[in-house]
Amino acid sequence: LDVLRNSRKSIGLVPTLGALHHGHGSLFERARAGCDVVVVSIFVNPLQFGPNEDYLRYPRSLDQDAALCAEKGVDFIFAPETTEMYPETSFTFVDVTRLDQHLCGAHRPGHFRGVATVVLKLLNIVQPDRAYFGEKDYQQFSIIRRMVHDLDLRSEIVAVPTVRESDGLAASSRNAYLSAEQRKAASVLFQALEAARRLVEAGERQPSKAVAAVRRILDNEPEIRVQYVEVVDPVEVQPVAVIDGPVRIAGAVHIGNTRLIDNVAAAPKS
Ligand code: AMP
Repeated sequence: LDVLRNSRKSIGLVPTLGALHHGHGSLFERARAGCDVVVVSIFVNPLQFGPNEDYLRYPRSLDQDAALCAEKGVDFIFAPETTEMYPETSFTFVDVTRLDQHLCGAHRPGHFRGVATVVLKLLNIVQPDRAYFGEKDYQQFSIIRRMVHDLDLRSEIVAVPTVRESDGLAASSRNAYLSAEQRKAASVLFQALEAARRLVEAGERQPSKAVAAVRRILDNEPEIRVQYVEVVDPVEVQPVAVIDGPVRIAGAVHIGNTRLIDNVAAAPKS
């Protein structure tokens, strides 16, 4: 990459955990359109999984992933072994405080420390001009953007809109865990968030009302157990007292043993 950099080629990085799908594909397309050289990293980062989470069973499919990358015109895949990324015990971690207090941060202790630390390592290894993140993981995007700002990193962080299946379910590697029946139930998460978005656009200013609307719909679906539903500001992802500007309405649910997240943007019509 140094050779390419020295000949003034711009470099784009898309960090992933692999098990690639068309959601990732849209990030690759954005990177391909915006940069001379596209690098995709594929690394199931143990640091961002909790002790009772799915690190060991997380889907791994490097051959298929390489085929999707080739199809999308990706130039390089960086797929390090765990021992290459963490050759010995690390003593250094990145905590983006405040932004990790709500949403997934409240339910996955240490998760965003693991994410921010590995992304900083990837940004240092690849030194991209731009790095691409999906809005599907909105808190993650916000945390990385803030880390880059606070630590004076030189990469530009680009957000890419969520890619959905035809029934609205956000594309996710974890959708592969769902049975046919669970897969049907899963689309209710997006429908519920959309109902709240419409309420906000129709003038609802109380976050508790928007949250209640989402929960009512989710509670009607017996396969779904709600972990959280929150209305947060789009910069520091803190719960808002009143909806008087753009917000993100975000939720996490369990369907069987599978945890799914999603979020939508909403704003009062002025
Ligand atoms: P992951 O492999 O799940 O860590 O995802 C790698 C990147 O792809 C992250 O920036 C995700 O936000 C993004 N991503 C995953 N699913 C989607 C989707 N359905 N739409 C847009 N971006 C996505």
